[in-house]
Amino acid sequence: MRIVLLGPPGSGKGTQAAMLVEQLGLPHISTGALLRNAAKRGTDLGLQAKSITDKGELVPDDIMSGMIEERLGRGDLGKGFILDGYPRNLSQARSLDMMLERLNQPADAAIHIDIDPEQIIKRIARRAKEEGRSDDTEKTVRNRMRVYAEQTAPVADYYADQGLLTRVLGNGPKEEIFQRILSVLQIDAKST
Ligand code: ADP
Repeated sequence: MRIVLLGPPGSGKGTQAAMLVEQLGLPHISTGALLRNAAKRGTDLGLQAKSITDKGELVPDDIMSGMIEERLGRGDLGKGFILDGYPRNLSQARSLDMMLERLNQPADAAIHIDIDPEQIIKRIARRAKEEGRSDDTEKTVRNRMRVYAEQTAPVADYYADQGLLTRVLGNGPKEEIFQRILSVLQIDAKST
């Protein structure tokens, strides 16, 4: 099962990805987590990326495709993967298609978590307190929402054109959202 998770910042993508990973035993590939790890380790790339993520801008495509290609090439994708945070613009979506084609592992579903902007601001304000992510300030969040609308929203249409996209309502308790996702994927929660 090769699943691409899409959704605006604060839509709960990371949370749902983690739940899916646990349920399905697939690797979780999160570009946000990869970038935060690189920053924590203090690598050149990590520090360079941090100054960009802290503004809510997108890290350049060549850096991201290198990072994703390296991750996809690690050889643990036999059962599939949950991709969270990539692709974030159309150029990344095309690169990903090419990389997955080369690996003979094309994506088989894209799920977009829908959520309204008011909820986003509320959720991220709470997360800022809990996790202290340096890109969760109000100014940065507003920029991330703008970048999302301009660059990432078209990625959902890209998958819709391929007949791979399903939209799932992202409000309510996380378990409920998870059930919606499982039913899209036609997985019976009890059978796995
Ligand atoms: P969220 O989905 O809440 O915005 P993420 O953890 O997925 O959070 O990403 C945090 C930041 O990392 C993004 O705002 C962006 O700056 C950077 N980032 C993550 N993935 C990508 C990507 N595919 N391309 C460019 N930048 C990315």
